[in-house]
Amino acid sequence: MNALAFETTQHFIHQAFAALELDPTYEVLLTTPNREVRVELPIKMDDGRLGHFIGYRIQHDNSRGPYKGGIRYHPLVDVDEVRSLASLMTWKTALLDIPFGGAKGGIQVDSTKLSEGEKERLTRRFTERIHHVIGPTTDIPAPDMYTDAKVMAWIFDEYSRRHGFAPGVVTGKPVDLHGSLGRDSATGRGCVFAIREVLGHDDRELAGTRFVIQGFGNVGSWAARLLHELGAKVIAVSDVNGGVFHGDGLDIPALQKHVQETRTVVDFPGSEPVSNTDLLTLECDVLMPAALGHVITKDNAHELRTAYVLEGANGPTTAEADDILRSRGITCVPDIFANAGG
Ligand code: NAD
Repeated sequence: MNALAFETTQHFIHQAFAALELDPTYEVLLTTPNREVRVELPIKMDDGRLGHFIGYRIQHDNSRGPYKGGIRYHPLVDVDEVRSLASLMTWKTALLDIPFGGAKGGIQVDSTKLSEGEKERLTRRFTERIHHVIGPTTDIPAPDMYTDAKVMAWIFDEYSRRHGFAPGVVTGKPVDLHGSLGRDSATGRGCVFAIREVLGHDDRELAGTRFVIQGFGNVGSWAARLLHELGAKVIAVSDVNGGVFHGDGLDIPALQKHVQETRTVVDFPGSEPVSNTDLLTLECDVLMPAALGHVITKDNAHELRTAYVLEGANGPTTAEADDILRSRGITCVPDIFANAGG
């Protein structure tokens, strides 16, 4: 599955090179990551067993500045997925014209099954194994799926033990540990700015626009909250456990309270259940995938009932699906623009 992630990213780069009639030599340079680090991560589990995990840091390109990109903890993390995500970061920082390159990292792990202590030991082991290739002027990690401000604080601390006080080694730290105000909401907020501009270009406005959002983590929940504040109708959202729907728009502040209490959107009072598969084909104005990659494929792209796809997630649309969306007149706001707010 994840070989597809890298192939998809390479395919889009190839299309861009062909459209711009650029020298193919540069295409080889820009489709080959500069450095790939794979590390073995043994840790002591709470029950005394030895846990064994594999982590990656892939540095795609740094011609415009230090490598930059998130760290993901997920069972599907592998070298191809990390390669794809690292490459997307290069294009994202270039598109926004900020002085960074592109990198990504991850550990193949279901972190929801780890205790807090196991997660901390795993993060510190990972930092110990990659500390020589990251740093405030070389490569700066950030949160991604199933990593958050606390994970960034552990990396900052573990890195500083070896290199001296270095809060600049990661972004997305807690605000009271040298983090930046607004970072938590930045990616979701960026998605809202992106769709506001695209709608405005089509003489449409956010107020009253109906959104369906897959994923209610950092990106999806912040986007939902801000869209709700701006008068948009978020009619369905989901998380890994399933989705909820209300045709007149969900009460997002109440839903957030429900998620704080129950840790899932499922069974939100007053909503109807909807599966993650069916959610993608609900009738709406804007469909926002904000969880995993490759959820819009040739198998469901014909069934989508939306005018816009807002790519909150990285790589949610396969190359074949992208062609289908274009042929159907559905505007796809690409990840490297839509989710670059962080
Ligand atoms: P997160 O871990 O905070 O939240 C992930 C959400 O996705 C959770 O609600 C989870 O339950 C849900 N989910 C997981 N598996 C799912 C599945 N199979 N079906 C439906 N929902 C599922 O992650 P995040 O930081 O919000 O990242 C989400 C996406 O946005 C990822 O693709 C990530 O690469 C991308 N992204 C994140 C940032 C950032 O700043 N956090 C920046 C750019 C892009």
